[in-house]
Parts: sequence; C-alpha cells; structure tokens
Amino acid sequence: MIQNMKIAYFTMEIGLKPEIPTYSGGLGILAGDTIKSASDLGLPIVAVTILTRKGYFTQELLDDGTQVEHPVEWDPALFMERLPNRVTVTVEGREVHVGVWRYEVLSMTGSSVPVYFLDTDLEVNRPEDRTITHHLYGGDQAYRLKQEIVLGIGGVRMLRDLGERIYKYHLNEGHSALLTLELMNWYRLDVRETWDEKLVWNEEAVRERCIFTTHTPVEAGHDKLPYDTVASVLGEPVPMDILRKWGGQDHLNMTLLALNLSNYVNGVAKRHGEVSREMFRGYHIHSITNGVHSYTWTCEHFQDLYNRYLPGWANEPELFVRVDTVPDEAVWKAHQAAKEKMMGRIREKTGVALSPEILTLGFARRATSYKRADLLFSDMERLARVGDGRLQVIYAGKAHPRDEPGKDLIRRIFSRARDLAGKVTVVYLPDYNMEMACCLVAGVDLWLNTPLRPMEASGTSGMKASHNGVPNFSVLDGWWVEGHIEGVTGWSIGPHPEEERAVGYNGTGDAEDLYGKLEKVIMPLYYEDRAGWIRVMKNAIGKNAYYFNSHRMMRRYVTFAYMTTHEHGQDE
Ligand SMILES: *Cc1c(COP(=O)(O)O)cnc(C)c1O
Repeated sequence: MIQNMKIAYFTMEIGLKPEIPTYSGGLGILAGDTIKSASDLGLPIVAVTILTRKGYFTQELLDDGTQVEHPVEWDPALFMERLPNRVTVTVEGREVHVGVWRYEVLSMTGSSVPVYFLDTDLEVNRPEDRTITHHLYGGDQAYRLKQEIVLGIGGVRMLRDLGERIYKYHLNEGHSALLTLELMNWYRLDVRETWDEKLVWNEEAVRERCIFTTHTPVEAGHDKLPYDTVASVLGEPVPMDILRKWGGQDHLNMTLLALNLSNYVNGVAKRHGEVSREMFRGYHIHSITNGVHSYTWTCEHFQDLYNRYLPGWANEPELFVRVDTVPDEAVWKAHQAAKEKMMGRIREKTGVALSPEILTLGFARRATSYKRADLLFSDMERLARVGDGRLQVIYAGKAHPRDEPGKDLIRRIFSRARDLAGKVTVVYLPDYNMEMACCLVAGVDLWLNTPLRPMEASGTSGMKASHNGVPNFSVLDGWWVEGHIEGVTGWSIGPHPEEERAVGYNGTGDAEDLYGKLEKVIMPLYYEDRAGWIRVMKNAIGKNAYYFNSHRMMRRYVTFAYMTTHEHGQDE
C-alpha cells in the first residue's frame, strides 16, 4: 500500500458498542465490525460517519404491541474527544460549519483505528442547521440530503483538514456517494486553449479511488431524490448535466452515482452479487460475503470455552476449525449457562419465566415486512400442536418510525403470542440493541430466519449465533446459501435458489417446510439425541463461525478491493 496513505471508510451509521446509539441495524453493526477487524489486523484505515446525537430511537411497546419511539439522549464526550478542526459545506446556499469528534477503536493487539464523527450541532450554525446531524434516518428527503452532504462532501474536506492522506474511499452503501463530487472537483483538469477555457471532468481519476459496497435489493434502501430538491439543497457542486450523467437523468440516484464512479463494486454475499448484477445490468459487480467480529459477538461463556481450548481464536478465528478438540459436555455447559443468563434477563425485563429445558427459537432483527417475522404463525393450529409444551420463541426488533407494515407486524406477533398462551410461550422483548443481540444469539437453541427471497442481501445475526454454537434454521437466502449444509450446520426452510428459479418459487411452501422439519427432524434431535444436537452446534462453530467472521471479510477487502489497481478483482 502506498506509504502513509490510508483507506477512508464512509458510513451513515456505525454500531461500535451498545452505549453509542449511532446505528439502526445490520448495516451499522457491519460497519462497526469492519472497523474492529481492521483495527485488530493493523490495517491503515480511518472511518467517517455522522454523530447522530439523538441516536436512532428507544422503543417502547404498549400492551397490544404498538411501538412508541423516544429520542435517545447520550453524551458523546463520555466516549470520544472533540477535535478543534472545522470545515464548511454549502446547504441551501448557506454555509454550514462541520465539527468532528474522534473515537479510537482500540484492539487487544495494541493497534487502533480512528472513527471520525461529524457534527453540525455547533453554536456558529443556525438552529435548523444544528439539527442536521441529530437523527439517524429521520426527517424528509431534504433532511437526508443535508446529512449526505455533511457525510460525503464534509467528510472528505474534514479528512483533508485532519491531515489524513487517503488512497481509497470505501462507500459503505450509497449514503456517502456525494463524496465523488468533491473528488471530482479535486481531480478537475483545467485545459486552457487560446480561444477557449473549459473544464475537463476527470471521472477516471475519481473512479480509481472509490470502492462501493451495495447492501440491499430492497428499493427503499436506494436513495433517490428529485432534482428540484437537489438544486435547492445541494446546488451545483458540479454542473447539473454532469451530475445527471452519473447520477441518473430523472432523479439523483445515490446508488447509480456510486456505481458509476467506483472502480470496485461488490454485494455482500454470493447470492446478493448475482441479484445485484441482475438489478444493475452493465456493471461489473463482485461479491465479498459479510462476516461478524468474533470477539464482539461471542458471549462470555463461549469466550471462556474458546480461551481454554482454542487459545488465540479471537484474532485468528480460523482456529474454530479445531472445535472438535472441545469436549461435548463443555459445549453444552457453556450453552446452558448462556441460556439461563438470557432467561434471567428476560424474566427481569418482562416477568415471563421460560424453561431452560425447552427448545427455544430466537428471531431478532429489524421489524420490516420482507423479513416475515410472522411466518412461524402461518398455521396456528399446527404450531400449537407441534410445539405444545415443547417450544418457546423469543422475538425482538424495532420498526422504522415510518414503516407502518413493520409496526403492524409487531402488533400481530403480540396477538399471536396471546393466542398461543399455555401451549407455546412467545415473548417480544422491547428496545432491541447490540447488547440484547449478544445475549439472544447465545442464549437460544436455534436461530430462525425467514426472509422473502432474494431480499436478504446477507444477514449477519445468524453468523453471531454460529459463534455461540447456535445452529441456524433459515430460508436459503443471503449468507445461508453459502453457510448451510443440511443437518450438518443447521437446516434450510424451503428450496435452494437453483430449484426455486426453475419452478418460479414464490415462498408459499416455506411455512409447510418449517413445521415439517421442526416436528420431524429438529425436535426429535434436540430432545432425543443430545450428542447429535451437540454435533450440529460444533459444526456451526467449526464450519460457519470459522468462515463468516469479519477478519476473513477484511482480508478479502484488502486483497480484492483495496490493493488492486486494475478494474477486475480476482474473486470470480
Ligand atoms: C446483528 C444485528 C442486526 C442484523 O440482524 P439481521 O438478522 O442480519 O437482520 C440488527 N440489529 C442489531 C442490534 C444487531 O446486533
């Protein structure tokens, strides 16, 4: 890598620790895990994000499951240092000052990586501009665009002001795509001719510097802004015809802008790479499958276990391949300890007493339609019969404040839970966050995932479960297409993507398959063949956690995306 030069990782959200509420879900957690692994591996990286002072939100759930949102108040000064640096950006023709905070991601290996949090809540700014960096994914389109100006344009200016020399810009999702416009102005060539003076836009120079990771096939995940909003909020950092050429003729599409101005583009799992190539024809889209930060997502009981039998695992997750050296009883003991700890927490929070002897399913992620949290309740009679006294289910997850179908989903689960009372205990825990995630992925027996194909680009919570010896029971979408070996690492729900294309599969058989497998395969194994069950637990560690960790992921980003100078990485 070029001496003293760094990779700049731009992200709208980042989940570093539960106390810093600047994340909403998987995208932010991935950003945090990325930077933690980069720090452990000693990579020359800096991260740039927004200091959302009101966080995402705290979720309260009423008796009927109605979600009430409260702003989060937190004090950045407890975790990070405010730096004196200031830059300005132009928003609606006004000058807006941008300040910065520095957070250090310290690694147990002794290295560290800075995360720069941009902040417009400064006294010099007008009251309305001070709120630009307050709410994560709040407000209207204009508000989002303002945040994207601060992140993309303000971020690049801030790095320069901080004296960071940047070799590549990694755009984690399209939110930071405006940084390409700032770079466009840096690499502009002035061509002077005797009779004319014109600007030449050096797109190639910008492209060489940019890496773009797209994260979702869901339409709402791709920001599109009408050009009248763009004209009034952003103005013309580059002439409109140039912007339209790269960002779309009809509206400014941040994904398109990033696609057109990045030399390396990737999806976040092999299947997602295929889906993205279909969505964005004509672009060369690679894939680098996501991973999770092993140390962060392994609960204390399994940390102790690995420390004893697989020392060095945290910075070398490849050692999970030796999981067979861990005695079965030790795995089971660590698991039951994690399960009882989780059940204690649930009892404290909700008053619901669960049994550590009953097979317990976990489902926790953002409450949004395509994830189909209610698929389990498709046939209530069957569920009550199959699960009577032998099944418990734990749910958690926030719905985006404007996602009405997502909010309905939570209410529906509450109502189904009441209908199943006395047969199958179902609890929904309020205010899902990183801490609760860590507790749940370790404390349940089986991690359930039922997205509508092919909408789950990767999914990462199942990888966290694997790190704690919890097998997955999931639709074959995202990472599970790569991680699944039937009956070995866990179980599938519904057909393989290859079959599904052949028959035009629309997901209708998923519930049937779910009940069938639960009744005939999973419950008998859990209750009647403990050694067989522990074998699957160990395979989740040795074959899933071994691979689906962010250390492996970052090594791929380095070799395929950061270090290659030519157009095509070597991953396909
Ligand atoms: C890991 C994690 C997610 C992502 O879950 P998916 O199953 O990948 O959607 C979301 N929220 C939190 C708090 C997490 O820790």
